[in-house]
Amino acid sequence: MNKDTSIQYLPGVGPKRAQLLESELGIRTLEDLVHLYPFRYIDRSSIVRIADVHPDLAQVQVRATVRKVRLFAKNGAELPAGQLKYNMVSRLSAMVADESGEMEMVFFKGVKWMHARLVPGSTFIFFGKPAVFGNRLNMVHPEVDAPDAGTTGVLTGVYPSTEKLKNAGITGKVMLRLMGAALQEILPAVRETLPDYILKEKGLVPLTYALRQIHFPQDQAALAKATYRLKFEELFLLQLSLLKQKYIRSRNAVGFVMSQVGQPFNDCYNALPYQLTAAQKRVIKEIREDMRSGHQMNRLLQGDVGSGKTMVAVLSALIAVGNGYQACIMAPTEVLSQQHYANVSKYLKPTGVRCALLTGTTTAARRREIHAGLQDGSIGILIGTHALIEDTVQFRALGLAIVDEQHRFGVEQRARLWNKGWGGTAPHVLVMTATPIPRTLAMTLYGDLDVSVIDEMPPGRKPVTTLCVGENKRHAMHNFIRDEIAKGRQAFIVYPLIFESEKMDYKNLQLGYEEIVKAFPLPKYKVAIVHGQQNAADKAFNMDAFAAGRADILVSTTVIEVGVDVPNASVMVIESAERFGLSQLHQLRGRVGRGAERSYCILMKGTKVSKESQKRLDLLCATENGFELAEEDMKMRGPGDLEGTQQSGLPISLNIASLAKDGLILSDARTYAQHVLDLDPTLQEQKNAPLLAELQRDKYQTKDYSKIS
Ligand code: ADP
Ligand code: MG
Repeated sequence: MNKDTSIQYLPGVGPKRAQLLESELGIRTLEDLVHLYPFRYIDRSSIVRIADVHPDLAQVQVRATVRKVRLFAKNGAELPAGQLKYNMVSRLSAMVADESGEMEMVFFKGVKWMHARLVPGSTFIFFGKPAVFGNRLNMVHPEVDAPDAGTTGVLTGVYPSTEKLKNAGITGKVMLRLMGAALQEILPAVRETLPDYILKEKGLVPLTYALRQIHFPQDQAALAKATYRLKFEELFLLQLSLLKQKYIRSRNAVGFVMSQVGQPFNDCYNALPYQLTAAQKRVIKEIREDMRSGHQMNRLLQGDVGSGKTMVAVLSALIAVGNGYQACIMAPTEVLSQQHYANVSKYLKPTGVRCALLTGTTTAARRREIHAGLQDGSIGILIGTHALIEDTVQFRALGLAIVDEQHRFGVEQRARLWNKGWGGTAPHVLVMTATPIPRTLAMTLYGDLDVSVIDEMPPGRKPVTTLCVGENKRHAMHNFIRDEIAKGRQAFIVYPLIFESEKMDYKNLQLGYEEIVKAFPLPKYKVAIVHGQQNAADKAFNMDAFAAGRADILVSTTVIEVGVDVPNASVMVIESAERFGLSQLHQLRGRVGRGAERSYCILMKGTKVSKESQKRLDLLCATENGFELAEEDMKMRGPGDLEGTQQSGLPISLNIASLAKDGLILSDARTYAQHVLDLDPTLQEQKNAPLLAELQRDKYQTKDYSKIS
């Protein structure tokens, strides 16, 4: 047998179980198997007496005998044991005891299976987190093992599993046995993935040692070394692959040379009503360097809501125009494009540069004019929705493409933009996003890009007071809005609109709107409404009414999420706030605090709020810093779920390292990868041959992340 041998040939597996292991865990070969690592370890050295179990303890194991098992329905009624319909059972409770005392084991899932297993009188090892519920000590969903489990060593690995696998007899114990057999077969021939010099310089244990210890640790210290080695390797190879791609791209991608800042830039700059922040200046400098370097720019600009990205976009576009090129600014929605257009036109006044707006609703006649203007070069900057990447739109000399709110565009749309450059050369690309991404995630998602960050708010940005209240404060909330309107302010009221429950959500929005209209009657108050089912004209009419101050309240779904600027609005009410993600809530809150002396964000929560959602809401009340929120969000939910990143996804899935927890290892791995590439950019040296071989593996080939446009 070798590493590519199918697991079905391991003793005790066979074709049936092999198939199950593949469908449930994606394991096909011996090599796949040994790369399935335990997700935790049972410390078999200590079995705790029930009398010593305390809810403050972390996970513990007790060895106890089942005394009594009871089943309960949803309404709390106990179900008789005979003739059971398991779909009626919502909870299984097992009282277990050792010589020192008794406690309860609770199961909400896998009840049927547990019921069959937990026969009174039989003894098991229960492993889990102790808690107290209704004065009684319990464990919810403990791991249940045979009483003699744990003869394999001090630390016993626990592998991911599923009910199907367990039903097929592939228990934790069987997994350990398979793992032992697989290791024995392939360890002698395992090829070291990291060159010797790296193992030495970074003080890493060899791969064979790491693999053995990760599955069968001899003690905690050996396990720690093994874990570190495997995490470092995973993150290092990922960073190496990203940085190598970046190197190759910067060497290959020819870009327009824009050597001067140009008159339009200076005219605009000198007429600015305010000073640029230091962060804005720094970022513009970075962009300017890119644009004159001769290499195509591929830069991501991150900046919290309200940090002043628009100005950076305008000045960058003017550099392109000042060098004889055109620029386009693409926004995700009609409303946003219009707003950009209005803002940009204002900034362009002193420059004499012409800009135009092209969206889905632009009339055919106007379209023809725009096409002509783009062709003869009289339009310097084109602003619009993805209408501007249609095939019919041709620039005379597109030199810079700016994409606002990157995560809303698909890869394909961006690729089209890429092809619109002058003479077949790709334009410089600047992608702007307001979704704050934790540093470690940015390093990985955008590891092959240049990233600029505006980490400073313009002066004059007012703090937003955030509070979270329940239904009983609805009247108070209405009164509060009345007071603010009396001061001449305006209010947003936002409803969730989740795809799966779209129908219900629209109904809630409609009901909410009616309630607001009743509470804020004409002629004293005017209420506008904007949502996705309106036609563009209605949407624009309502939006304009609010933006221009003709309406006091805007009731809407999340269409206002990104970018809309109404400085006079001082209140943001978010209905069913628990249904929004953290960064989305933060984006919404960013709509206020732009002009008024004091602004408020009121999170209205429903009656059923999970602990986790409450934590999110509390966090939002506690800080206004988007990056801090993003870091916390990642810690709470793991990077896979982070908003704004689902589309792009992680370049590869991580097997052992965690972006949320292993930030330090990641930074170190990235620095070290850069160091290795500085000495040998294409990994041609003999000593780096193992690395080159690793990077040729499929998982590093799947996508080309080097192009964000
Ligand atoms: P975002 O980064 O969310 O796109 P905007 O570009 O819309 O932010 O800017 C938010 C507000 O801050 C706008 O009203 C803009 O005019 C203002 N602004 C931008 N830069 C500065 C600055 N340096 N000083 C003062 N106000 C600024
Ligand atoms: Mg913006």
